[in-house]
Amino acid sequence: AAEEGFDVEDVEGAIEAAGHGPLPVLAVVGRPNVGKSTLVNRIIGRREAVVEDRPGVTRDRVTYEAEWAGRRFKVVDTGGWEQDVLGIDASVAAQAEYAIEAADAVVFVVDAKVGATDTDEAVVRLLRKAGKPVVLCANKVDGPSGEADAAYLWSLGLGEPHPVSALHGRGTGDMLDAVLEVLPTAPVQSFGTAVGGPRRVALIGRPNVGKSSLLNKVAGEERVVVNELAGTTRDPVDEMIELGGRTWKFVDTAGIRKRVHLQQGADYYASLRTAAAVEKAEVAVVLIDASENISVQDQRIITMAVEAGRAMVIAYNKWDTLDEERRYYLDREIETELGQVAWAPRVNVSARTGRHMEKLVPAIETALAGWETRVPTGRLNAFLGELVSAHPHPVRGGKQPRILFGTQAGTKPPRFVLFASGFIEAGYRRFVERRLREEFGFEGTPIHISVRVRE
Ligand code: GDP
Ligand code: GDP
Repeated sequence: AAEEGFDVEDVEGAIEAAGHGPLPVLAVVGRPNVGKSTLVNRIIGRREAVVEDRPGVTRDRVTYEAEWAGRRFKVVDTGGWEQDVLGIDASVAAQAEYAIEAADAVVFVVDAKVGATDTDEAVVRLLRKAGKPVVLCANKVDGPSGEADAAYLWSLGLGEPHPVSALHGRGTGDMLDAVLEVLPTAPVQSFGTAVGGPRRVALIGRPNVGKSSLLNKVAGEERVVVNELAGTTRDPVDEMIELGGRTWKFVDTAGIRKRVHLQQGADYYASLRTAAAVEKAEVAVVLIDASENISVQDQRIITMAVEAGRAMVIAYNKWDTLDEERRYYLDREIETELGQVAWAPRVNVSARTGRHMEKLVPAIETALAGWETRVPTGRLNAFLGELVSAHPHPVRGGKQPRILFGTQAGTKPPRFVLFASGFIEAGYRRFVERRLREEFGFEGTPIHISVRVRE
């Protein structure tokens, strides 16, 4: 490394930064208008979390990466869901429930100017039941005179209320320090699953693609009631299913069961559920209704799994309904619409007839193997050396940026750091990724490549 012009500390630092494992998840919950989105913006230090909450605008982005005091974590914003037909208590509760389930710690936001309401008390009961660490944020304390309002919130029994002004930033640093004290450094749903222990699968996809039907089929019995009505079952959230000789944990199946019919915020609710399931899983099986055109919503769900860095399998369901013409067009559509995830194993199934159910497990296993692949540094550099001499980066401004060496900093998903003599263009990065995939497989997994440029 030294002779290539990088000092050892730079290299080690870059590898450590790129190689982080899955990040712990912090959920921000509370009633509408207490300032959750404003607070999330503060925490992530950007403006993008709050989008205009115009009716009909889909809020599908619910998780963000954040960093405080050198520690990185994910934040789940539940601010996008307005009160709906279920009434305020039920909607806040349902939303908080999903967020809490996916979280390793929770910030519970209360409007200190209003004080604790019945709805707040209901959320407190949920928080108690979940047993996750909670930091109580007494928001809208814009100045010293508001501190007394914050003190009243001791009555919630959640410990010290942290007076905060999400709007102006007052107190948010102290509150985040308190968060870091209770937030584990890695997700509690640890990826260090015991050897031979159940792997965690999330079955995701837009409404009506056949998730509960598929779950029924693979579980081999009518464990899940298709088209069940609003919130009648509240069984265990995860389901252990024997498949292909081993036990799999299908996470968050209660969310698949539960058919809450919402008007406002239905898309957001579905997104939150999907995000929660993906966070808890190692591999996502994305179900797509092959009888219909691939939709923007399908794409968003895929993006969510990719951005979360999970292994992925794409299952095209309702294959029993396809005629030859539809099959032809579907293939074209997959090529044009889903080209960016061409690495995901594909299975064409029918939850109704059971077609190709036996192909699901091998596909999941392939994806998990890709997700866990580690390329030895020697092999990687032999490959990079050949690649760079056979296909050099284009000359820019009289100079030729070169990839000097690289290393795999982490797995689940595979993360690489490449060290270069100059700026490496996006096109060339994509080319390197393609060649890495050709050489080493990585079927069913996103891969992360970061590039460090010599100063
Ligand atoms: P959410 O529905 O919980 O996500 O709440 P928002 O973040 O959308 O905030 C609701 C309203 O409260 C907005 O008008 C914010 O500007 C306002 N707000 C949020 N935080 C504060 C704060 O710390 N002080 C004051 N005065 N207003 C705030
Ligand atoms: P979910 O909302 O994703 O859980 O979807 P459901 O499992 O409730 O399925 C929605 C509808 O699609 C139901 O009427 C199912 O009977 C139907 N369905 C599910 N899978 C298949 C399939 O493989 N073939 C056909 N023809 N219909 C299916």
